[in-house]
Amino acid sequence: MVIQDKSFASEELLELAQVGHRDPVYLHDKVLVLNLNYVPINISTLKRSLILISKGKAEILECRDAAIHTIDDDVLAPSAIRLSYMVKRSYKKGPCKLSKKEVFLRDNYTCQYCSIKSNKMTIDHVIPRKHNGPNTWENVVTACSPCNLKKAARSPDQAQMKLLREPKPPQPNPYRLLQNQRLRDEWKVYIPWDC
Ligand SMILES: [Zn+2]
Repeated sequence: MVIQDKSFASEELLELAQVGHRDPVYLHDKVLVLNLNYVPINISTLKRSLILISKGKAEILECRDAAIHTIDDDVLAPSAIRLSYMVKRSYKKGPCKLSKKEVFLRDNYTCQYCSIKSNKMTIDHVIPRKHNGPNTWENVVTACSPCNLKKAARSPDQAQMKLLREPKPPQPNPYRLLQNQRLRDEWKVYIPWDC
């Protein structure tokens, strides 16, 4: 379904759109944006999505059980949209730059010693820096605070703590943008289970 609604023609008018009552809808709510080939490309806002739809640059794939009242009509709030053109993405050939956030993303915010998952993680140097452990993809892992404290300046063997997996540079992954995001149920058909 493509909405060609003049009331969405400008952002100013869009601000006038009121939200439905069943499920509160806000213009900053997240909407999954898929490329022409159905690969997720971005997580945008409801407001931006409605503008893309009104301009014929996207079509609605999934809606929420909530209506938006526009000047002319009531429409269901989109939850996933697909662009009507192909956006070329260049995924870097090499691994991304090493940073705390990228290590957390690689490890999916999961402690590499006890498997606990949380947004509050720390970085552990497998071979401690004190023993000249380098700051490389192969030597840094995500660890929860208790595991990091327990391991202290010891190697995993010395601390008798086993790593879940051998740390490696991350592979380029077009689905990375979805990691650590709250995924709406209706998005999941467009996302591989192991992304
Ligand atoms: Zn842990």
